[in-house]
Amino acid sequence: MAKKIELCSFCGRKKSDTNLLISGIDAHICDNCISQANDVLNEEFTSRKKKLTTKFELLRPKEIKDHLDQYVIGQDDAKKILSVAVYNHYKRILPSKHKQKGDDVEIEKSNVILVGETGTGKTLMARTIARLLKVPFCIADATVLTEAGYVGEDVESILSRLLQVADFDVSAAEQGIVFIDEIDKIARKSDNPSITRDVSGEGVQQALLKMLEGTIVNVPPQGGRKHPEQKMIQVNTQNVLFVTGGAFDGIEKIIASRLQTNVIGFKKDKDRESIDKDNLMQYVAPQDLKRFGLIPELVGRLPVVTYLNPLDRDILKRILSEPKNSLVKQFERLFEMDNIHLTFSDNVFDFIVDKAIEFKLGARGLRSILEAILNDAMFELPSADNQSQELKITKRYAEEKVSQSSVARLKVA
Ligand code: ADP
Repeated sequence: MAKKIELCSFCGRKKSDTNLLISGIDAHICDNCISQANDVLNEEFTSRKKKLTTKFELLRPKEIKDHLDQYVIGQDDAKKILSVAVYNHYKRILPSKHKQKGDDVEIEKSNVILVGETGTGKTLMARTIARLLKVPFCIADATVLTEAGYVGEDVESILSRLLQVADFDVSAAEQGIVFIDEIDKIARKSDNPSITRDVSGEGVQQALLKMLEGTIVNVPPQGGRKHPEQKMIQVNTQNVLFVTGGAFDGIEKIIASRLQTNVIGFKKDKDRESIDKDNLMQYVAPQDLKRFGLIPELVGRLPVVTYLNPLDRDILKRILSEPKNSLVKQFERLFEMDNIHLTFSDNVFDFIVDKAIEFKLGARGLRSILEAILNDAMFELPSADNQSQELKITKRYAEEKVSQSSVARLKVA
């Protein structure tokens, strides 16, 4: 039987005409075709990368803040600091005309930590920026995270969520923003590093470290440990921006002791008069976070520290109607869809804010109270025969609806 001549299955060259012919199961490929295929691959990857990096334009800090102003009321310091951090972060990863060839200055990541009571707009701010930049964004809760091997979620699960919102486009996910809420809840319980394992605290902080700094993480696409057979996807977190947030209950005392002042008491000392004792949070610094129980390495990877003010009556009132998609605008639109023109008497907003404060519900409560006031009208009016209608909410009507509703049950003792 004649010996079969080995040919490259792609270009048809004989083995003797090539430098190397590699055999597969039913086919062969020569060195020339391998090199060409490699060029095709490189071209494809660079064009995909280019597509991605031109997807979002680099907005300047002022433009980012202007956008935030449309959705987040107050919190000027936090908005400015966050806008600069985001600008620097994306300047760092976008191909820039300012970058010199062979430039050996590597700009480090500007992960952020937002300190402020719950419901003051931390998540809203991170989400608003992500939407503006059109990058994948996800929220993770630090309280459900545990060290690998313990009951709970591994820190990698955070990236599963990011991958899912990016529709498994790994390179998009790799430039996304992750908001990690309740970071204060994984603080070490005492200032002394414990010799026993601290599953919920220090161990998780250690696990988060690498991811925050930038590393390649093997991510289970479905998240969790329920699908041990799933194939891991590698995600590089080098360019993922991590924004963390927490209420850090009691941190004012730590700040006060650092500032050598007292939280309670009147200003006696002239030298300390410049310190605003009513809002000590504004002086929060990395050393306070360490004393609160975050390990120094983690604090080091969250170089941008800022704070959010508690929401006062005036801000709450503005939140009701001012933001671009404010609650009032949303309800007006809902009624408009049924040809109902919704308006409010002047003092109704004050009443809603009073109730939110009385029930200790903060900004989140504004919605429940408005729902309680408007629910009956939303139920009745769409069935009414009139073509178009006016609905004016007076304070008396609002009071009556709130007293009849179950919203009072939400009251925090
Ligand atoms: P946090 O993350 O600080 O706990 P959120 O950002 O989730 O709080 O805020 C809860 C809700 O309260 C938001 O969805 C928003 O409707 C409202 N809110 C809170 N703070 C503000 C603010 N400064 N401006 C506008 N809306 C706010």
